[in-house]
Amino acid sequence: MSLALTGLGVTSGIAIGRVHRLTPGELSIPEYHLDHDAVAAEIERLRQAFGRGEHFFQRLLDRLGAGGAETARELLEAHRLILRDPLLIEATEERIRSERINAEWALVQQSEQLQNEFRRMADDYLALRREDLEQATSLVQRELADQPGTLIGSEVPHQLADTIVVAEELGPAEMTVLAQRKVAGLITEHGGPWSHAAILARSLEIPMLVGVHNALDLLGESEPIILDGHYGAVLAGPDDSLLGHYRDKREAWQRRRLDLRRYLGRPSRTVDDHAFTLLGNADLGPEFQRCLESGVDGVGLMRTEYLYLDHSQPDEDSQYRAYRAAVEIMQGRPVTIRTLDAGGDKLPTILAFAQGPNPALGLRGLRLSLAMKDLFRQQIRAILRASVHGPVEILLPMLTSIEEVRQARSFINACREDLRAEGEKIDPELPVGGMIETPAAALIADQLAAELDFFSIGTNDLIQYVLAIDRSDELVNYLYDPTHPAMLMLLRRIQQAGRRHNISVTVCGELAGNEQTARLLLGLGLDRLSMPPAALPAVKRSLLEADSRRCRAEVEAYLDGRSDHADGLALLKSLNDPSRDD
Ligand code: PEP
Ligand code: MG
Repeated sequence: MSLALTGLGVTSGIAIGRVHRLTPGELSIPEYHLDHDAVAAEIERLRQAFGRGEHFFQRLLDRLGAGGAETARELLEAHRLILRDPLLIEATEERIRSERINAEWALVQQSEQLQNEFRRMADDYLALRREDLEQATSLVQRELADQPGTLIGSEVPHQLADTIVVAEELGPAEMTVLAQRKVAGLITEHGGPWSHAAILARSLEIPMLVGVHNALDLLGESEPIILDGHYGAVLAGPDDSLLGHYRDKREAWQRRRLDLRRYLGRPSRTVDDHAFTLLGNADLGPEFQRCLESGVDGVGLMRTEYLYLDHSQPDEDSQYRAYRAAVEIMQGRPVTIRTLDAGGDKLPTILAFAQGPNPALGLRGLRLSLAMKDLFRQQIRAILRASVHGPVEILLPMLTSIEEVRQARSFINACREDLRAEGEKIDPELPVGGMIETPAAALIADQLAAELDFFSIGTNDLIQYVLAIDRSDELVNYLYDPTHPAMLMLLRRIQQAGRRHNISVTVCGELAGNEQTARLLLGLGLDRLSMPPAALPAVKRSLLEADSRRCRAEVEAYLDGRSDHADGLALLKSLNDPSRDD
């Protein structure tokens, strides 16, 4: 092997193929001043280019089939909307008029000004908006330069089954075309796990690495490479034995995925006949569909931040349509809709003002909703209206006190009364639960259980706050230990509070979607797990083959200091030791 590069794997798959480098083909942007009487024609030329750009996105949208393409549709639609944004089109026209400069130059200036505004506010969501803007305007620049379309020109082969595409960044338009051409894998130099390309790759199940620095310089055209999404590695120039090893690994991975699906249809009971419940985490149409096909008992977590990402601010009706669509797809299985959990590492543009000195400890989750009642009202009304179409539950994020719950519940009641007065038939019993994801909430779980209809444990945040490690900081990743005794003690406490008050306790953080930690949770008596649909088959098999009594006995002994396990990892290993399964 001649070279190994690293990046961040956004899907765990393996791809083997030859490199195709997708380079933007430098567009030179002409800059010149206009005579007074040429201004009107230049504005018309700009409008025409915007119009053709929109038409291009519309054609792509029309070509998208039904089914798994919903994510692509939403992203393409977002780009199409950017081309109608007055901040872009009207302000560019104004520049042509007032500065008497050509359309390309005016567009570059206006787009850069907007992108700089996004850049100043360091945040993943804003970075995404900047990326959208850049991609949509570069399409219009191509129209102005008479080089229409995406980066995907005639030199890109039509069949990409053995090709791994390497690019600086990829937009939804490129992703859609590459997926249609059955690309084997994708590598981008920039972008994070929240970039649109990454979201799409997950949705379309294409192996992908992002953040592979200098990949375009270091990887040669047609060079054979291996992409390992699990380890976040690109192995260039592999020899025959490495290739053989990875071919076997890829086949084993594909076989295992198919094989595991067999377990989905089985009744959810452990070997000692303990019933467990599996739910899905879903934000977008195709994920709900996959949840349904996987036979889950419902959706345990619908994050709603996504709705605030592509639109400037989703109004009540557009939210209602999104929630209703989710409820209808799930055909009578309950959908737990979490109210906006903006803040921390995910703050939409419209809420940028809420960015404090320490976002993880700032105005986030329910705190933000209670501080912005108009925004909260729109969301609650939309959720309540969707509940007419099937069972819905409301989940409140980032709780730390009883007072917050009381305020939120009385606000929800007031919204319900308003809607009733308007003649809507709202479910009067609609359950309201809370995320237990702060140490304070875990410690007062008993009091909270008396105020809420259910708990959902957000282990991602709970670990971050209990162990004092920023979940997005690579430097302290090594401390991220779900088996830390402090975590196990708090999880047990939450589970016991739920049982005493007879309310359900679900785990919806990443720990629930890992086949190994799922057994640890089972051992803690946490047998309702909600996870991304891709994780369901492996977790289901792990629990079907588990002995819940043994898991509980081992975890209890460990927590009470009666076991031989040196640490939590040894406990985890023992719980998952296949030789101890029946
Ligand atoms: C969690 O914190 O575990 C959780 C499920 O919520 P999020 O990852 O959206 O913060
Ligand atoms: Mg959380």
